Amino acid sequence: MTTTAGARTNWAGNIAFAAPEFYRPASLAELRAVVARAPRVRVLGTGHSFNDMADSPGAQVSLAGLPPEVEVDSAAGLVRVAAALTYGHLASRLDRQRFALRNLASLPHISVAGACATGTHGSGPANQNLSAAVTGLELVTADGDIVELNRGDGAFDGAVVHLGALGAVTRLILELVPSFEVSQRVYEDLPLDVLDDHFAEIMAGGYSVSMFTDWRAPRLTQLWIKSLAEDGTPPVTEEPWFTATPAPAARNPVPGLPPANSTAQLGEPGPWFERLPHFRPEFTPSAGDELQSEYLLPAEHAVDAVHALQRAGDRIAPLLRIGEIRTIAGDELWLSPAYRQDSVAFHFTWLPDTAAVLPVVTLIERQLAPFGPRPHWGKVFTTPAADLHASYDRLPDFLDLARHYDPAGKFRNAYTARCLGR
Ligand SMILES: Cc1cc2nc3c(=O)[nH]c(=O)nc-3n(C[C@H](O)[C@H](O)[C@H](O)COP(=O)(O)OP(=O)(O)OC[C@H]3O[C@@H](n4cnc5c(N)ncnc54)[C@H](O)[C@@H]3O)c2cc1C
Repeated sequence: MTTTAGARTNWAGNIAFAAPEFYRPASLAELRAVVARAPRVRVLGTGHSFNDMADSPGAQVSLAGLPPEVEVDSAAGLVRVAAALTYGHLASRLDRQRFALRNLASLPHISVAGACATGTHGSGPANQNLSAAVTGLELVTADGDIVELNRGDGAFDGAVVHLGALGAVTRLILELVPSFEVSQRVYEDLPLDVLDDHFAEIMAGGYSVSMFTDWRAPRLTQLWIKSLAEDGTPPVTEEPWFTATPAPAARNPVPGLPPANSTAQLGEPGPWFERLPHFRPEFTPSAGDELQSEYLLPAEHAVDAVHALQRAGDRIAPLLRIGEIRTIAGDELWLSPAYRQDSVAFHFTWLPDTAAVLPVVTLIERQLAPFGPRPHWGKVFTTPAADLHASYDRLPDFLDLARHYDPAGKFRNAYTARCLGR
């Protein structure tokens, strides 16, 4: 096991981890010993969250040294995967065995366990978030015991989106589908008022659709349409789509960044894992130098929420690299931001200026308040605990679960205290 001290930060560099101890166990036995011994402990995934959720007042543990197992059960259509593996590594191994995951986030660099812990999602009105593919998980709980939870167990729906508060997840079982091909087209310049009558139709115009806007002018800068190659949609023509024009060359959704960092476009079909994310695994995703925030709310309020954000455009735009709008199908996971509601997500990639961004984040929360926004757990938000409790009716049950697996509160940290009141 390696133990390293010294300055460590999250991926974005806006959080300097305060954890005084850092461990990288090489085996399950070592991990169990670290967890059992530590008075306070948290697991770090790949550190792509933008807040302090992965920090610890005691030990911080990376599971990246555990064996990178990927065991496919072809008959059952399931894969058992080591928690710290990234989607990028997992996806290419699954594709070699002609399997796929239904959806991916905008980047393949994140760990499976870290992404599922926060309800990370891609887009598509029929696509649930990545956590919804989990059918089982194994975790090392506070006293070093190993607990297995499977879909159908009473606590399972509460344990999948867990914010790192139940234990150290060592392995997950994910549902698979047969491998598939996707083609991606980018369209540009769509007036925002077209969304008034056509939001749902445009979002259903592909397997996964992302709308981008800088909130500077009443227009979408880009629309990314990821279609199942077998469907042949959107029309592989050079015709405008809802008045948006097809981009004549590859694009990056973030203004000023090279198109080469983005996944292949221009309608060229390719494997699911090389089209569903926006960013390629071999490059820094997005800008790197940035903060992010995101809010999910019921899809039926999408157009009203667009208008509410437009009214704050003059405050949002100066601090924004780019905004993205996506859809996510509802699920049954207690702390999922899409819990029991088909959702629309409003995402903001900010300039890396926390002091300037925070008041605008609070303003966005106020603008979206009539629609019951649920913040992305892994991004920057200022939503008070009382509002989070009001948004999640199973939160008290989740806290019971945390007390059950972690009676002494080893997995608590400043984030759980602030957001969950534990
Ligand atoms: C450039 C960029 C693009 C992004 N795009 C998207 C997107 O398209 N959609 C989206 O929804 N989000 C997106 N995100 C946010 C990101 O997906 C989430 O923050 C995700 O949770 C990060 O995963 P991670 O492995 O880095 O986890 P970390 O940030 O390291 O950890 C997240 C939480 O999970 C816990 N955790 C991690 N591993 C374990 C484990 N094995 N056992 C127990 N607890 C664990 C940590 O303690 C922490 O509480 C993006 C982030 C970046 C930087």
